[in-house]
Formats: sequence, structure tokens, C-alpha cells
Amino acid sequence: MAICPVCEMEVEEKKARGTSIYQEKPFYFCSKACKKKFDESPENYFKEEEKDA
Ligand SMILES: [Zn+2]
Repeated sequence: MAICPVCEMEVEEKKARGTSIYQEKPFYFCSKACKKKFDESPENYFKEEEKDA
């Protein structure tokens, strides 16, 4: 199971609406809209899971 980096929903890789490779890692998206947002500014979503608890 992957996590959509935009909305943080769980995404099954096989059912992903889109994928992007960023910094040589694959990302899976729950929707085309999420993929589009990510592609426009991937750095916004690339925070290496460092979050407020
Ligand atoms: Zn999403």
C-alpha cells in the first residue's frame, strides 16, 4: 500500500489513478487531480514523513 502524497490517502498501487517518479522514487496518487498538483510543485509534498504527531 502506498500513500497519496497530496491528500495522504492510502492508495493501492494497482488501483492508483496516476504515478510519478520524483527523485527516483515512485509516487502513487488517488486521483488525477492529486497527480497534477504533485507534478506542479512536488517539493511541497516531499517532506520525508516529518510531521507533527
Ligand atoms: Zn490524493
